[in-house]
Amino acid sequence: DLTTAPSRARAEIDLAALRANVRTLRATAPGAAFMAVVKADGYGHGALPCARAAVEAGATWLGAATPEEALALRADGALPADVRIMCWLWTPGGPWREAVEAGLDVSVSGLWALREVEQAARAAGRPALVQLKADTGLGRNGCPPADWPELVAQALRAEREGLLRITGLWSHFACADEPGHPSIAAQLALFHEMAAHAEKEGARPEVRHIANSPATLTLPETHLDLVRPGIAMYGVSPGPELGSSADLGLRPVMTLAASLALVKHVPGGHGVSYGHHYLTPGETTLGLVPLGYADGVPRHASGTGPVLVGGKWRTAAGRIAMDQFVVDLGGDEPEPGAEAVLFGPGDRGEPTAQDWAQAAGTIGYEIVTRIGVRVPRVYV
Ligand code: PLP
Repeated sequence: DLTTAPSRARAEIDLAALRANVRTLRATAPGAAFMAVVKADGYGHGALPCARAAVEAGATWLGAATPEEALALRADGALPADVRIMCWLWTPGGPWREAVEAGLDVSVSGLWALREVEQAARAAGRPALVQLKADTGLGRNGCPPADWPELVAQALRAEREGLLRITGLWSHFACADEPGHPSIAAQLALFHEMAAHAEKEGARPEVRHIANSPATLTLPETHLDLVRPGIAMYGVSPGPELGSSADLGLRPVMTLAASLALVKHVPGGHGVSYGHHYLTPGETTLGLVPLGYADGVPRHASGTGPVLVGGKWRTAAGRIAMDQFVVDLGGDEPEPGAEAVLFGPGDRGEPTAQDWAQAAGTIGYEIVTRIGVRVPRVYV
């Protein structure tokens, strides 16, 4: 365990905010079941506590990428046994037998996966729960339209042989965070077509789904039987075009804060951190923030990343290093251990994850997800 003391730095996770976000999203999609996406350790917030909180707030499904993530959720005795858990990143040689035995819903995008899942079902002695994934235009995972009839035919054959049940048909958007993007309507129409084909051939899925956070928030026609939001549940906006968390009625769940480790006086013209990309403009004080890119603070935000210290926004001065970075405190002399807040909900005047995303030229998803293992998650 590489976790350091919360006195160095901590990611506070506000589970009440997560529950409130789940309720808000459920109210936005009242006719649909709710799958809480808790892959990548709950987008960095801790998969198990977030899964439990989401279920308390009405989620009946949990979504993970890898089977290992899904198995860890299934092994959590605190989650009700009837919560369905789906994983969607099939890779060869994975723990598919265990996945079938654990009753996970497994996504299948092609014949490689289908064959291995069939073998796993034979070994497990029970049918696999399979959700067929259509590539309706994302161009990433999923079965393209030309290969869909064969995949559907083979899955139905395996279903007749008792090796699997087709529990879902699903897809994923490419541009749902860009309002009005023409691919949205095209993907939805193609999904309906591909689902209709599978159903005409005899598939009887329990759920058809395509809506991620931006679609859940802004595209009611995509809600279908189930919505699958991730980032919005953690209170982070899916993208600048949709507005801020507050605009969307969501509350950021994670606050990242550290305690200043050193404050020192330096003269003007003092080079700061590797490469001397910052020279103090005059005599000043420097504060040392004991977090760096090993903790997920993006090095791309060197010179731009905002930090709240003593009620004022300061900026990462010079390069963000592996374990630490410096802020110019402009002559202020905070108490030893004074708090430096990198991001949070914003209502104490602190920056948000979205501000860090902008500073680093990335998306809020990456900011929260990459907070590293040395930073303790403190549940409040
Ligand atoms: N569904 C799938 C297949 C995903 O990969 C993801 C995450 O990228 C989500 C849903 C949730 O997406 P978002 O976090 O944008 O809501």
